[in-house]
Amino acid sequence: MRVSAVAAVENSFRIPSLGTQRRLKILNLRRALQRSSESGRIVDVSPKWRKSLCKTAGMNLTSTAPHARPWCELPAADARCVVGVLTDIDDTLTTLGAITPDARAALAALCATGLHVIAITGRPMGWCEPFAQALDRGGWPVDAIVAENGAVALFREGDVLTTEYAQDGPTRARNAHRLREVAARVLREVPGAALARDSAGRVTDIAIDHAEFAHLDRAQVDAVLAVMRDEGMTATVSSIHVNGWFGEHTKLSGARWIVRRLLARDLDAERERWVYVGDSTNDQLMFGHFPLSVGVANLMAFADVLTTWPPYLTRGARGAGFAEVAARLLAERWVDVSTRHEASRDRGVPD
Ligand SMILES: [Mg+2]
Repeated sequence: MRVSAVAAVENSFRIPSLGTQRRLKILNLRRALQRSSESGRIVDVSPKWRKSLCKTAGMNLTSTAPHARPWCELPAADARCVVGVLTDIDDTLTTLGAITPDARAALAALCATGLHVIAITGRPMGWCEPFAQALDRGGWPVDAIVAENGAVALFREGDVLTTEYAQDGPTRARNAHRLREVAARVLREVPGAALARDSAGRVTDIAIDHAEFAHLDRAQVDAVLAVMRDEGMTATVSSIHVNGWFGEHTKLSGARWIVRRLLARDLDAERERWVYVGDSTNDQLMFGHFPLSVGVANLMAFADVLTTWPPYLTRGARGAGFAEVAARLLAERWVDVSTRHEASRDRGVPD
């Protein structure tokens, strides 16, 4: 079921959007996504949905998500105003480091309906490169990927993959030596700490693995953060890594930069028209900034340390949660397109 659903979405993604064809295409995408979600890890709908979220994330039932509402309750008017989706990657689109079919189908469906999609991650530039390539080279259907917590942007210009940095060359060169020194200090002073396996692809930061291939407990993570901050770094914790870097850039500054650079749009002037999707404590800045931010269900794994909650939560975890986000937006997009089509027909105007 899921394979055929993904194929339908991927095929539709390549069909030019024209009038009634577009309406039929969106309907097919919507049905395909729905089937994909049904076969995924969606938690059963229940009046006690917060308990379901806790169950999904393996949390104690005493964990709560204050002020967060189910994503399915997003008002239709809000959904119709959306022009783009910003999304984290690890444990939001991916499971164990790989994108799941439902999440990839959701990305394709969002792009096919004309919404902008930009991935924003703590992963390194080198890790992101293959996914920022053209679709026929294994790339993802996104406008751009912002890597290293806002430091690097990768996007396609025709067949050419372009990489741009938030910091200039001399600044990056100055920081490179300091990054190595801090990494050595962390490894020296925090027993059990190890560099993330994707460190070779990093240009502007360092990352300590706490949950991808290694396991650090809370005290060890705090010790890593303490060293990084003592060295003057900005430091955050994702679902898998502790990241540290020199500079003021963040996921939010990276989002502002790439939206202005690629789309000539002012993200702050239209922040209620962008959805942000994330899963971890390093997404809190984005959760607090975007009124339509949403956490996938596995965000509940961080319930006891989260200080800024998104206004919405999905019932599904990881890729299934992201597919749920897309399906809700797509449903309203379908209504919007259908309404405009019927209005055009009533006026005798070809759409
Ligand atoms: Mg994440």
